[in-house]
Amino acid sequence: MSRRGIDALVIGAGVSGLTTAICLAEAGLRVTIWTAEPPQQTTSYAAGAMWGPYLVEPIDRVRLWSVQTLDVLRQLAADPQTGVRLVSGIEASREPVEPPEWGSQLDGFRLCEADELPNGFVTGWRYTAPIVDMPTYLGYLDQRFAAGGGRIEIRRVGSLDQAAGVAPVVVNCAGLGARELVPDPMLTPIRGQLVVVENPGITEFFSEDTGLSPDLLHFYPQGKTVILGGTAEPGNWRQEPDPHIAAAIIDRCAELEPLFRDARVIEHRVGLRPARPCVRMEKEQLDGVTLIHNYGHGGAGVTLSWGCGKHVTGLAC
Ligand SMILES: Cc1cc2nc3c(=O)[nH]c(=O)nc-3n(C[C@H](O)[C@H](O)[C@H](O)COP(=O)(O)OP(=O)(O)OC[C@H]3O[C@@H](n4cnc5c(N)ncnc54)[C@H](O)[C@@H]3O)c2cc1C
Repeated sequence: MSRRGIDALVIGAGVSGLTTAICLAEAGLRVTIWTAEPPQQTTSYAAGAMWGPYLVEPIDRVRLWSVQTLDVLRQLAADPQTGVRLVSGIEASREPVEPPEWGSQLDGFRLCEADELPNGFVTGWRYTAPIVDMPTYLGYLDQRFAAGGGRIEIRRVGSLDQAAGVAPVVVNCAGLGARELVPDPMLTPIRGQLVVVENPGITEFFSEDTGLSPDLLHFYPQGKTVILGGTAEPGNWRQEPDPHIAAAIIDRCAELEPLFRDARVIEHRVGLRPARPCVRMEKEQLDGVTLIHNYGHGGAGVTLSWGCGKHVTGLAC
């Protein structure tokens, strides 16, 4: 334990930082989070968020972490207070493509018949997966961490050396912030924009397999609201919502489901996915302190969160 009575300092209060901090605290460590922004101002708040390994590597580790997270999200879905729901729906493509290899992990996964697909789509698969209402979920994680004795301080970390004096274990969950903090120029943003609308009666999700296109098409029902998406623009740092992009998102979704045409818009969200050639999950020594990196989760930070949190705990304890 350090002079301050902290066993582990976690940098960041997005989904990676909060989940990792919970895993460490529930393993018996005294944990404090330092974060530049509160959870409601992170990229994690902006996420859709559906379980699915998207825009992230390396595949072997991603496979394990995502299955571990799927197990936990399934359990959390039993409690509506968490914001996690198990939702059925279809992912489809306008091109003949193979179904994803992770499909077999999901409940009810099967190929669609041609008459189940919207016009213009040639292949698709149906399954049930966790969809996470991130504002509610981050609130749940925050409370669970506090209930375990954890503390969150709003404090920007200027350098990892500064953090090293605070606790014997420091975990870097700074998301895209790690680009300057480490520094790590391999981290780059993939901008995402979403529109939140009042739910006009949608109970199933739809997602188009759009390959590497920056224009995505998906809708995720979350009770009273539906998340319409989206975009994936590599290298774009702009944090403000773009009204033209929002209109195009609504148009794409309304083409498939006309009820979205007049649905009341509640919120516009923008987030910068922390993209890296592969997730950085690694332990090193810094001035006698154990420093663990857990960042670079791209478009799958929610999908990997519990697997990565458990991995960090294994490295720390
Ligand atoms: C539009 C959109 C849709 C998405 N959809 C999905 C989805 O469906 N499924 C899915 O799994 N993922 C999805 N993602 C990806 C997911 O949101 C990210 O991978 C995830 O949020 C990354 O979480 P994180 O905690 O690592 O980073 P962040 O949420 O960015 O949190 C980083 C934290 O570090 C703090 N920080 C940074 N620098 C410092 C510093 N110097 N000192 C102190 N604190 C610092 C920040 O304040 C913040 O608290 C989506 C992302 C976007 C943008």
